[in-house]
Amino acid sequence: MPERKQFVVIGLGRFGGSVCKELVNQGHEVLAMDTDEEKVNIYANIATHAVVANSTDESALKSLGIRNFDNVVVAIGDNIQASILTTLVLKEMGVKNVLVKAKNDYHHKVLEKIGADQIVHPEMDMGRRVAQQMSDEKVIDFIELSDEYSIVELIATAKIEGKTLIDLDIRAKYGVTILAIKKGDDINISPQPDYEICFGDLLIVIGHNKDIRRFEDIAM
Ligand code: ATP
Repeated sequence: MPERKQFVVIGLGRFGGSVCKELVNQGHEVLAMDTDEEKVNIYANIATHAVVANSTDESALKSLGIRNFDNVVVAIGDNIQASILTTLVLKEMGVKNVLVKAKNDYHHKVLEKIGADQIVHPEMDMGRRVAQQMSDEKVIDFIELSDEYSIVELIATAKIEGKTLIDLDIRAKYGVTILAIKKGDDINISPQPDYEICFGDLLIVIGHNKDIRRFEDIAM
């Protein structure tokens, strides 16, 4: 069970709302905030606390004790000015980790300059994810570690069925590493070299994107 943490989520649109629900599901305490009373009423039953407040109002944030929270999510979308001002106030108050949803590149740049700790573009990221997944049917899921490196989940095809990791000699031939193999609900961490791959196994592979693609194209 992860350590129980305290979060503030400002802006209860689709993104902020879903962040709030998931944090609560994960067992954390969440103070949800929005200027819209209707939204706050909905989240009153979901979040630990829900308040109607304008996050650009520094005195309101102070009276809510926001400076005592280490993690704040700013999920204000359309009102870029409010998002920027809120981030600025939070960083000036000394909040350690401020994650902000950015609407566009200009917004991102300003957020970076004023000290936002994490900046996310959920629509753009999801669009890329969906496109990458749709364009490659062998990739079941992936995590981008950087622009160049990823962890991908690949489904084992008939081409490698019955082969062992020694037969495939993956690291030497392709420069990628199999971190784990999933079979249904079972996960085999650091599979042994003599592990025999079955059709439908999910191979969790880490490496340079170029090498992963080469492995997929030639071996799978
Ligand atoms: P999503 O795509 O996540 O649904 P969005 O990007 O369209 O959202 P908005 O709907 O503009 O974003 O804003 C999200 C929420 O933030 C709204 O519920 C809005 O009332 C709230 N909000 C906007 N400004 C403030 C503010 N200054 N303080 C608190 N909440 C605010």
